[in-house]
Amino acid sequence: EKGRRDFHYISFEKHPLSLSDLRNSLSKWPELADLSSQLCDDYPFTIKGHHTLKFECGRVILTLVFGDIYESLDEYRFMADCWYLDGFSPNKNPEMWSPALFKEVARLSSDGATFSTFAAASAVRRGLESAGFSVKRQKGFGKKREMLLGSITKQDLSSTGHLPLSKTNWAYPQTLIKNSVKNSTAAALDKDVSKSFDTVIIGAGLAGISTASALYQRGLDVAIIDTRPAPVSGASGQSQLVMYAKFPSERNKTFNFVEHCLAYSLRYYPRLQANFDNEFWHPCGLLQLAWSDKEAAKQTRFANNTKLPTNFIRPICADESSEKSGLKHSCGGLWFENAGWLDPKVYAKILLSDKPAKSQATITPFYNCEAKQISQNTDSSWTIETNSGLFHTRHLVIANSNDTKSFPQLAHLPTKPLRGQVTSIRSKQNSEEIKSTQCVLTGEGYLCPSVSGWHHFGATFDLDSNNESTNAEDNEKNFEAIQHWNPSWISDKNTEDKSLNDYDVKSNAGLRCTTPDYLPIVGLAPNFEQMKETFAKLRVGANSCKHLYGHYYQGLYVNVGHGSKGALTSPVAAELIAHEICGGIPPVNDTHKAMFSPARFIIKHLKQRRI
Ligand SMILES: Cc1cc2nc3c(=O)[nH]c(=O)nc-3n(C[C@H](O)[C@H](O)[C@H](O)COP(=O)(O)OP(=O)(O)OC[C@H]3O[C@@H](n4cnc5c(N)ncnc54)[C@H](O)[C@@H]3O)c2cc1C
Repeated sequence: EKGRRDFHYISFEKHPLSLSDLRNSLSKWPELADLSSQLCDDYPFTIKGHHTLKFECGRVILTLVFGDIYESLDEYRFMADCWYLDGFSPNKNPEMWSPALFKEVARLSSDGATFSTFAAASAVRRGLESAGFSVKRQKGFGKKREMLLGSITKQDLSSTGHLPLSKTNWAYPQTLIKNSVKNSTAAALDKDVSKSFDTVIIGAGLAGISTASALYQRGLDVAIIDTRPAPVSGASGQSQLVMYAKFPSERNKTFNFVEHCLAYSLRYYPRLQANFDNEFWHPCGLLQLAWSDKEAAKQTRFANNTKLPTNFIRPICADESSEKSGLKHSCGGLWFENAGWLDPKVYAKILLSDKPAKSQATITPFYNCEAKQISQNTDSSWTIETNSGLFHTRHLVIANSNDTKSFPQLAHLPTKPLRGQVTSIRSKQNSEEIKSTQCVLTGEGYLCPSVSGWHHFGATFDLDSNNESTNAEDNEKNFEAIQHWNPSWISDKNTEDKSLNDYDVKSNAGLRCTTPDYLPIVGLAPNFEQMKETFAKLRVGANSCKHLYGHYYQGLYVNVGHGSKGALTSPVAAELIAHEICGGIPPVNDTHKAMFSPARFIIKHLKQRRI
């Protein structure tokens, strides 16, 4: 309907209900069964962090933030229009109602934001008043005797247009980009531009196609260009991509990041798959074998330190391992019940054709099309020079993996190619059939359930090689490695007598794009020289510059560096870029945004006085 606005509800909860408790509680309102079942069907894993649920074709968004409010609120920069402060009364839950909480509530409020609470104690009233709210006491509802309500005026905020400060201001642009999301006309430019789109994406691998889809779903006209003749033909072009996460054994920043990406992808793929018959997502489960003493000790530490919901990750014994994979194992492992593998070709087909309902938006691929140069126009839009002519756009997303550095604006990004080769084998005609694993197995590498008789395993790691052709030596390496970490595979007996000559063999190689901290590089592209100048004082004091914003190219975004985990990280990365272009609440918190940020290396290198 005309004038209707989207509704975003954010809920912070320290003790989330389990799904069964939620179902049980909601069953008391049978008249709401339709709505409750939508909520229960999409209910996230009850793990710490940020989970987004969408209803009514994305017009109603529920963000559930699980964890202590004190570890959660300072991770955000939203501006709320309205607060409901629950969380029991101050005498039952004294640690929650502190001046620090009221200050955070005020920081995250828009001009004129209102609040209400049944906690009518005078400490609450005084706290809210000292944070800047006007407060009045009123008769409560139902059994509640009283309630407090009020509002806050923030003239300073509406005049500057800045969102609240965050812990990592350098990860945000100095001025909010207020340009229109839709493209201006190409006619405004003096160049002969025949192809003009709201967004142009360079690179049609996992990173590019998932970003294209996220923007297309938001109603933008997207062009995606790739040097190769078809999508997912670079590193993403493996026949089976395992959706896999490697966790540190203790909870730290990296652990939280990996956990967030895994929880995100484990909800994203099945939801997309549910709309299509053509199968790209194979949630067969994934078993990380405790195949060596060292790995077993690590897994024990992980299980003791982290206590995750059992439907997310749980330790299992050797018998259960054997039952899950259908092969014989003498060790247990960690069981990722909802993980699996991805068929990238089918996935690409779906993403590039999944037309959003009632939308005029288009998604146009250009293959055999190489981006040679990018340049910014005086109105901040971008021109891309290709072998198929010029493209014009307001939002340019660079998702071309290791080739990103060929654009001078991005030459500072510290990515490196990391060559990999996977091997597939099949029983020769009339020979004994190789038994397939029923789930994905990981150890020193991975082994996938067979497809059409082919068993797919690998992969090698070869730093600094640019060679994408396959070789027999790497097939031998993969074969030796898998016999080492998963010796019962191929045959229960005489494993060591087997050689690759006993099978039909094929292989595939590609170049991963890796980064010094093994995290992807996703977000607005920083202006290297300006960042260096503004943050120069970091060279003498690592804590200086806290209030300074970063310098970014307007309309230029990067989505690269997915290393060996593109299936894990590309969905959330795509959503982050779509958020940066179209607005709304980001799919990650502040800490994770900074961990993704393309500017993080400049900040780090300044602190280390390397630049
Ligand atoms: C052997 C191997 C096995 C792997 N197994 C797994 C796995 O099981 N699970 C997993 O999660 N990950 C796996 N990976 C890693 C995964 O493939 C990557 O993380 C992922 O593919 C990265 O996607 P991308 O879109 O960033 O890069 P790519 O898929 O490489 O896409 C980049 C695209 O940019 C295009 N391009 C480059 N320059 C230009 C230009 N100037 N103009 C136009 N187009 C350009 C390229 O043609 C290419 O298609 C594996 C990688 C390899 C090599």
